[in-house]
Amino acid sequence: MSFDIAIIGAGPAGLCFARSLAGSGLRIALVEQQDEAALIAPPDDGREIAITHHSQRLLRELGLWARLREEEIGTLRDALVLDGDDRDGLMFRHDEAGKPQLGWLLSNHAIRRAAWEEVARLPDVERFTGVRVNAVRSTAAGAEVSLDDGETVRAQLLVAADSRFSETRRAMGIGAGMHDFGKTMLVLRMRHDVPHAQVAWEWFGHGQTLALLPLHDPHTSSVVLTLAPPAMRELLVLDDAALAVAMAARFGQRLGAMQVAGPRCAYPLVGVYAKRFVAERFALIGDAAVGMHPVTAHGFNFGLLGQATLARELRAAVEAGQPIWNPALLQRYEHQHRLATRPLYLATQLLAGLYTDDRRPARVVRKLALGAGARLRPFKRLVMSGLTAEHGGVPAPLRRLRRTARPV
Ligand SMILES: Cc1cc2nc3c(=O)[nH]c(=O)nc-3n(C[C@H](O)[C@H](O)[C@H](O)COP(=O)(O)OP(=O)(O)OC[C@H]3O[C@@H](n4cnc5c(N)ncnc54)[C@H](O)[C@@H]3O)c2cc1C
Repeated sequence: MSFDIAIIGAGPAGLCFARSLAGSGLRIALVEQQDEAALIAPPDDGREIAITHHSQRLLRELGLWARLREEEIGTLRDALVLDGDDRDGLMFRHDEAGKPQLGWLLSNHAIRRAAWEEVARLPDVERFTGVRVNAVRSTAAGAEVSLDDGETVRAQLLVAADSRFSETRRAMGIGAGMHDFGKTMLVLRMRHDVPHAQVAWEWFGHGQTLALLPLHDPHTSSVVLTLAPPAMRELLVLDDAALAVAMAARFGQRLGAMQVAGPRCAYPLVGVYAKRFVAERFALIGDAAVGMHPVTAHGFNFGLLGQATLARELRAAVEAGQPIWNPALLQRYEHQHRLATRPLYLATQLLAGLYTDDRRPARVVRKLALGAGARLRPFKRLVMSGLTAEHGGVPAPLRRLRRTARPV
């Protein structure tokens, strides 16, 4: 079967990309290993995604926002960063950014459901679900995807959105810089006596990192705990009641009594940055291109931005009557997305290393950084402009780092 574009992976990035091309006249094949039932009603994977102002605008334009239920949207009004035993920390306030809120929190499974609903109604998208990719090939003549059900999908352009551990990226001979932080991240929805007041917390404690992400209900948050794997294993054997007591203690009882209110989902912490985003008749989008450490909450925001950039280039090529596999077009996408993501990827690696290192020099440095941050407006602007910027690019203070935007 022949198409203009074959997309591998119907995660949030692959689905948004298919949706972005709606009405362009391009015929799309969407290949996904999960079956249709899991795509219609995606299981709760515990992830709550912090959405920037720019991403919210994109989600509105794509029709996804209108498909979210009121109770699936959390307000991220302010954010608090705490270090060690410090009880006051550094507050990032929405009014300092001139916005009614810093951002929003959406469940990943709600984003996936809404994106699938949008894509499933598109006449130009043919869905191949419940199938795995056996082999991929791209030559000057076209791209080919062999599926494990014996089918072969041919396309003018192949786009991989098959996660940060992308098998397609590897099969196409594209390497990636990977950083294994050696930590496990547990995400867990919890109810708590003290209301969250729509404030997100990031708490760099000794031997642990804790985050609290406020959900729609004032007494329910997503709790994110990062620990070394042995300590995480000990915690995960506890039953719900014992886990709730342990989590309340980890929060220093600041939220009062807590109860488990969702599934326990644990993720290995690995940052990934592809050496190249494009090859002959081939492009990487989403986590397959840039897999961020979640601490700066930018993975999906970058995924949305990248797919929008590539879709815009493809639409322009169609309108100009140019081939969609034009190497110059693909290079423009690579260039723009690298400039938009590389500085924050590097800054996030640095921050994640600094704030999760419990050795004394690192503790002293971050104490200074937080103290300085309270005094220095530029530091605050760096974090806040990333969330509240209406454009999709790099926060202003990071733009001068663009010179470092080279392949890893
Ligand atoms: C704990 C946690 C918290 C996060 N918080 C935030 C946040 O606050 N803000 C933010 O912006 N981002 C956040 N992220 C990142 C965000 O979840 C990811 O960036 C986003 O889900 C990536 O989407 P994707 O479509 O690129 O990849 P995935 O979601 O990984 O989807 C890939 C898809 O490809 C399919 N696939 C894989 N291999 C094949 C194959 N061979 N054949 C067919 N199909 C295949 C998979 O089944 C899957 O459906 C967080 C991540 C984690 C783990």
